[in-house]
Amino acid sequence: YSMSTSENLCVVLHGAEDMRVDAREQTDPCGNDVLLKMGSVGICGSDLKYWKYAKCGRFTMSSPMVIGHEGSGTVLKCGPDVKHLKPGDRVAIEPGVPCRQCYICHAGRYNLCGDMKFCATPPVDGNLSQYFTHPEDFCFKLPDNVSLDQGALMEPLAVAVYACQRGDVGLGSNVLICGAGPVGLLVLMTAKAMGADKVVMTDISENRLALAKTLGCDHVINMKDRSSNMEDCGKEIKAVCPRIDAAIECSGADSSVSTWYSPLQSTRPGGSVVLVGRGSKEPSIPLVDAATFEIDIKGVFRYANCYPKAIAMVSSGKIKPEVLISHQFILKESEKAFQCAYSPDSGAIKVMIRCNA
Ligand code: NAD
Ligand code: ZN
Repeated sequence: YSMSTSENLCVVLHGAEDMRVDAREQTDPCGNDVLLKMGSVGICGSDLKYWKYAKCGRFTMSSPMVIGHEGSGTVLKCGPDVKHLKPGDRVAIEPGVPCRQCYICHAGRYNLCGDMKFCATPPVDGNLSQYFTHPEDFCFKLPDNVSLDQGALMEPLAVAVYACQRGDVGLGSNVLICGAGPVGLLVLMTAKAMGADKVVMTDISENRLALAKTLGCDHVINMKDRSSNMEDCGKEIKAVCPRIDAAIECSGADSSVSTWYSPLQSTRPGGSVVLVGRGSKEPSIPLVDAATFEIDIKGVFRYANCYPKAIAMVSSGKIKPEVLISHQFILKESEKAFQCAYSPDSGAIKVMIRCNA
């Protein structure tokens, strides 16, 4: 049979607040590509930014783009050079495909490749669609006991795994996580799975902090209305946990300029501050303190080589990312799904879209 004339419903952003479900033509996969019937796609903060403003950070849309990058699917058809996957295999889709040729790719830090093609980062189409074509080496087979919803959550979980690795989280580590959004909560689960002892989390939402507690967080601190008194917050963190080995910033709020101050205050000498969240461009930070106390400030840009680890942790039951799914929609309801994810009143944590339901 041939797929070449099939219709593929795709959720396309034509500009700011202009989301449409368009039918596109579906072609056969070539080379190392596999054609996937999409399973689930999660909505992330960057998707919401493209939807609202047609831009996110340093990337701006200049033509219509399919949205979505937290996806899973089932192999329908393999290109002629595909070796490891076969029709029927269910996979988690790692959305960024680097050049695989440059110095950085060869060094294994392919997330930093200058020639990266990443789903739903302009101009590359994302995978919130019925069908999607992707290279097999960025499709990771899911064990039978892992669902397609869990498969879609491997993307933010990979961010959490990478952030914990960057912070050298391990047996007996004490970790401060600033921000209890999906990323911060996945960092919590990952840090615990990696053997962390105490985890302290901050947020400005009482609901999210309550959820963090139910997920095993040892201490929570509400930073609401505290931005003028960060020294005090640093002291509070010190009081509940005198030795923070790694502080992982996952709030990305503009007030994380000052949240920064607190990690640096509370992180032990020789510890790490890991920057996952994206705040203002030039935050004011006590850099000399970092130098004096040999606190390593580490960036995080997505992840590299983390999907196999994330899948293993979910399959073994050590991490249960699906507890973060608060809402589910079908593809044609995508705009509603985005509204839900965007609205502060919806109580949404992770909104999931079923592409072929
Ligand atoms: P989110 O917006 O859902 O979570 C952020 C949380 O921080 C919210 O719960 C919010 O209430 C809380 N917050 C706001 N101000 C705060 C403050 N002053 N102190 C403590 N908490 C505060 O976002 P998310 O999806 O969890 O992502 C977190 C951040 O990570 C975002 O900035 C996102 O852009 C970034 N991110 C980075 C990468 C990367 O590769 N570095 C990947 C994914 C996401
Ligand atoms: Zn490269």
